Amino acid sequence: MTTYVPPLRQSSPHLPFGDKQDATFYGKDILSVKQFSRDDLEYIFGVAHEMEEMVRRVGSFDLLKGKILANLFYEPSTRTSSSFTAAMERLGGSVIPINEVRYSSVSKGESLPDTVRTLESYADVVVLRHPETGAAALAAKYARKPVINAGDGIGEHPTQALLDLFTIREELGQVDGLTVTMLGDLKYGRTVHSLSRLLTLFDIRLNYVSPDILRMPAEIIEEIKATGIPQAEYAEMEPILAETDVLYVTRVQKERFTNPDEYELVRGAYVIGTDTMRQAKEKMVVMHPLPRVGEIAMEVDDDPRAAYFRQMEYGLYIRMALLAMVLGKA
Ligand code: ASP
Repeated sequence: MTTYVPPLRQSSPHLPFGDKQDATFYGKDILSVKQFSRDDLEYIFGVAHEMEEMVRRVGSFDLLKGKILANLFYEPSTRTSSSFTAAMERLGGSVIPINEVRYSSVSKGESLPDTVRTLESYADVVVLRHPETGAAALAAKYARKPVINAGDGIGEHPTQALLDLFTIREELGQVDGLTVTMLGDLKYGRTVHSLSRLLTLFDIRLNYVSPDILRMPAEIIEEIKATGIPQAEYAEMEPILAETDVLYVTRVQKERFTNPDEYELVRGAYVIGTDTMRQAKEKMVVMHPLPRVGEIAMEVDDDPRAAYFRQMEYGLYIRMALLAMVLGKA
């Protein structure tokens, strides 16, 4: 009797007639910003522009008709989860939403590899958010279909970083030459962990403003230092506000604190208000991955430099582009 050997994931899977193959992303996982080159970014942003154009012209179209996305969220999400759903549906595909793992077999003790292997037998791509750093990489190790990291604990949030960078470029015209100031919870904020790394592909300056207990992790600072990008740390934003082109504000990540007293000490450490905006450049943009919990006063929303709501919309086009690319249709 011959033993059945299951097929391994191919780097260039067999393509049904009519499919187009993108050499870089087809069938690939999106796990970390470290996998992208500047050329990749140009390509992704080009596809995102096409998606934007199509959404404006026709709303939805059938590029991914018949394809299924499993949206597997072990942590709360509003924007990431719903923008992946909207992206898939605008491309004519459909979604298996698992937003509440409490109601799935995860609550019976099923392991992540088993859950992912289950979902990939019904879907063509798996989007995963999980509280543990490295969870997406683990899932990808077991999955034969592409896995997209939608946030792994305090690790990375690569699709957010792509949409953040796209926002900077759309809003300010270019990325080279800018000073980017990241403010708030730089220790637990996965969005800043990904964005700071991605920005090292450009000629930029990075400033970090945080309370002492929420400083950017030393290993990320070292990683960035090795690329030669200038970085500086501050406890207050005043010294560097006037030179800042992008003010990237983050929420203090309450759910990551083991000691609630520590959270109480640093919550509300910084609030961006109209006073802050008066001291800032006329062409600065204020970004936030959202949700905000008081870091940006609502009165700032009407300032044309407040880009955080536009940032969410850019996310739709980036996620449409990524889905089309990993599914070989870009
Ligand atoms: N939505 C972002 C994230 O999932 C930022 C946040 O939660 O503060 O990382």
